[in-house]
Amino acid sequence: MPLELYNTMGRTTQKFTPLVPGKVSFYGCGPTVYNYAHIGNLRAFVFQDTLSRSLSFLGYEVTHVMNVTDIGHLTDDADDGEDKMVTKARERGQSVLEIADFYTKAFFDDIDRLNIQRPTIMCKATDHIQQMIDLITRIEANGHTYFAGGNLYFDISTFADYGALAHFKSDDLKVESRVDIDTNKRNPYDFVLWFTKSKFENQALVWDSPWGRGYPGWHIECSAMSMHYLGEQFDIHTGGIDHIQIHHTNEIAQSEGATGKKWVNYWLHNEFLIMDKGKMSKSSGNFLTLQYLIDQGFDPLDYRFFLLGGHYRSQLTFSWESMESARNSRRNLVQRIARIMETDATDQTDLSKTAKAHEWLNRFREHLEQDISTPRALSELQGLVRDNTVPPAEALEAIKQMDTVLGLDLLDSAKNLLDASHCTGGMSESQIGELISERTKAKSEKNYSRADEIRNQLNESGILLEDTPSGTTWKRSIGENS
Ligand code: AMP
Ligand code: ZN
Repeated sequence: MPLELYNTMGRTTQKFTPLVPGKVSFYGCGPTVYNYAHIGNLRAFVFQDTLSRSLSFLGYEVTHVMNVTDIGHLTDDADDGEDKMVTKARERGQSVLEIADFYTKAFFDDIDRLNIQRPTIMCKATDHIQQMIDLITRIEANGHTYFAGGNLYFDISTFADYGALAHFKSDDLKVESRVDIDTNKRNPYDFVLWFTKSKFENQALVWDSPWGRGYPGWHIECSAMSMHYLGEQFDIHTGGIDHIQIHHTNEIAQSEGATGKKWVNYWLHNEFLIMDKGKMSKSSGNFLTLQYLIDQGFDPLDYRFFLLGGHYRSQLTFSWESMESARNSRRNLVQRIARIMETDATDQTDLSKTAKAHEWLNRFREHLEQDISTPRALSELQGLVRDNTVPPAEALEAIKQMDTVLGLDLLDSAKNLLDASHCTGGMSESQIGELISERTKAKSEKNYSRADEIRNQLNESGILLEDTPSGTTWKRSIGENS
């Protein structure tokens, strides 16, 4: 079955055909590093990671580029408000670079804890100013710009397809239809490519350019860096749905305005994570961080599991109850896998059973091929771990392959659980044997209180006894929900 992806451009599910067979070039909008990422932002990055892992699982060689915005992002995406980085630096009495450095490290800590693989290339806006200037020069040469009030603007009236991604109609683009206080703009939808002196006289970071000393608008960094690393045309571009209307719409206008050709083939957008009490906002400071979830006793992978349980195009509502349920489901899953690990793999030569693991794996693959349906893929994994007709070694191999997509550290977690349960109480097998003999003797002497005492002592050490007609057997308990 071919891979199908929902393309925001055109709003349809389409067969995925990469520009170069077997390879995928993919750019995802990264964090603006003026604050901690909130758990909504982290949804966008878990999605990028899941997409990249899924593409690799499906056999593609993936080049994944992500930017780090450390300059030029104003509090409003449409050139309004203050520079987010500069504002934070002023509040903290630190330099913009110190702020960027601190929150970039915090971002890496978060993505590592969520098992998000590092993209092939991570690139900072401030390291690519020359590429931005070069691209703006091309846009200008193609007649898409005007200079007003000290800034260079993109003139959307020169770009016929402006707003195709967002499904703007021509009426939407009338001058009156969008409130904007920048009187230099000919049309409120025009946007800044290069700022000089109209805003922030004391802007900390400025560069020389053909339009004067200044700094780039926010949108240009993604066009410049993606083309620098992936070429003038590439396969996939991602971001949260909030980027459709302004950021990605403007990225397309300026990129295609520079090259004169189609820029990106597939646009994928993740829906928002919302709180039961409404929107989370990084700029208002009203949000939850991953660290806060950890402080409440959750494992970062509980949050990853929670996210994978929803399709990336469905809105997800965060609640502590759903986090608890994600934690329980993940624990149960790990416990089941630990039990499979403990089971003796006796009948691995039965090929008809071996094919069963492949059936689960094939269905898992098919769900990914249908627009990366992680909830359905997860349910195949849940089915596999409950299917005791699959030989354990085969099941473990299939789980390992599924986990290259899910990134839940399933085998390691199960192994750690087993190690922990083996260590519980620090009791050796011979000590257990001696206690069982003593209990059998106590029972034969009708000393039931001593027999119960021994059973309880073993239970507390994670040893479960079972009395059978042929004697007492024992096994290690693997977690309380097993
Ligand atoms: P930022 O650091 O603000 O530039 O945002 C980083 C990414 O998070 C972008 O792709 C946004 O579209 C995305 N994003 C922002 N808020 C949310 C949310 N509540 N849920 C999901 N994605 C979000
Ligand atoms: Zn971007």
